[in-house]
Amino acid sequence: MNILHSCKRAAELLSQSLDEPLDVVDSLRLRMHLSMCGNCRNVEEQLHMIHKVGAGMGTLDLCDEQLAPPVANGNPAN
Ligand SMILES: [Zn+2]
Repeated sequence: MNILHSCKRAAELLSQSLDEPLDVVDSLRLRMHLSMCGNCRNVEEQLHMIHKVGAGMGTLDLCDEQLAPPVANGNPAN
């Protein structure tokens, strides 16, 4: 089995793993790379954080802004 040498490939696998489960070989390669590469461990952390934030945003009610009354105009019209 080839060890994953490329950080680029590792990053690809990392982001892929957020969307779908990696197959055993890819996941193993990724684990091995992460165990050797602090850079990619940081990338993994950041990706997970972004993913978490992104998932949180998805559950927000997007109508909140539209429901807010327009209070910017304080001048009485008459
Ligand atoms: Zn790496």
